[in-house]
Amino acid sequence: MNSTLAPILPGSTIGMVGGGQLGRMFAIAAAKLGYRVGVFCGSSDEPAADVATFTVCGPLEDHSAIEIFADRCDVITLEFENIPAETIAACGRHAPTFPDASVLATAQDRLLEKSTLRDAGLPVTPFMPVANAEQACEAAKKFGWPIIVKTQRSGYDGKGQHRLSNADEAEAVDWQGGGDWIAEAMIHFEREVSVVVARRADGESTTFPVFENDHRNHILDLTTLPANITPETENRAREIAIEATRCLDVVGLLCVEMFIQNIDGEQKIYINEVAPRPHNSGHVTIEACHTSQFEQHVRAICGLPLGNTDLIAPAAGMINLLGDLWGENGAPPNWQAALAVDGVSLHLYGKHAARPGRKMGHMSAVGDSLDDVTERLHRARNALRQ
Ligand code: ADP
Ligand code: MG
Repeated sequence: MNSTLAPILPGSTIGMVGGGQLGRMFAIAAAKLGYRVGVFCGSSDEPAADVATFTVCGPLEDHSAIEIFADRCDVITLEFENIPAETIAACGRHAPTFPDASVLATAQDRLLEKSTLRDAGLPVTPFMPVANAEQACEAAKKFGWPIIVKTQRSGYDGKGQHRLSNADEAEAVDWQGGGDWIAEAMIHFEREVSVVVARRADGESTTFPVFENDHRNHILDLTTLPANITPETENRAREIAIEATRCLDVVGLLCVEMFIQNIDGEQKIYINEVAPRPHNSGHVTIEACHTSQFEQHVRAICGLPLGNTDLIAPAAGMINLLGDLWGENGAPPNWQAALAVDGVSLHLYGKHAARPGRKMGHMSAVGDSLDDVTERLHRARNALRQ
């Protein structure tokens, strides 16, 4: 941690490694604050390239392209954790790069991530490394069936994981195909929540209010806030998230996904996983909070004062728009019908090809009650199919 860094002021150039929707919304927030944004991405038609000041294209392994990009930046950040350590090291030779390579190494590996958090005394889902059906059965002896097995590396949106209810199902897993695995106790949670923390190099941090998340087919569908948890659980979740950010020494953003289990009326928190970047659940903050997660990310890596994260209304929500909403021939949804719903804000990521399960955009709303907000969001999404 370097607390002597001078702030990187508006007018400077921020580099974003990654050209997806997170990079796009980050670039929009940074431009609002008067920064120039360079994006490093695979091709010039990626979502963030549309809104960047400049783009350098190439594979992440192309160090000469990365060096050309990094040389133009005053500070560098990223929108996904699966970036090779050498790429981040190459960035770091030209400009401060947040989060650093050690944060990424931890976040890229579920076993290392969970062990690090557990060793810091944080409440993570019970887990153990497994390599085959026999070891999965050992895990089930400890945790009870069903268990969840996950590849240690590169899973997202439920990819690379299986819920196993018995030894036969454990035998059916392609254990060789996924690299190393971990097994986790299946948590019978009451709800899933997430907390986004922003942290500066001098350790100053803030959390957003706790988001409540509903998944469909392992993909985030709906985020609402405030989360339906007690004030004590809200405070505890925010403390745990700050502690996780400190223990991993993250500069920038960390999203901590958690399960809330109800045991005899007590809400127990388990950390599921962490992501050192903006998070899909945090998109709601663009409309719902005084400062968005993207602006907070800019402020954190540039060493600016962190913004107020309070909700601006009693309730807010965000609903995802997946490629399934497009017609089979690629025909777009009925935007006019959705935009006619009062107070619903539409965000599209500019992706050219719609595929089932692909995140194409989202919609947000704020209001007086969660019922009002979720009713409008569902009405707007249904209208897209008209
Ligand atoms: P991904 O990297 O795909 O987001 P996660 O570990 O977050 O992987 O798992 C995706 C979803 O699967 C979670 O949001 C949750 O709904 C469910 N899940 C994962 N692990 C568990 C668990 N141990 N107990 C219960 N549900 C789980
Ligand atoms: Mg997850």
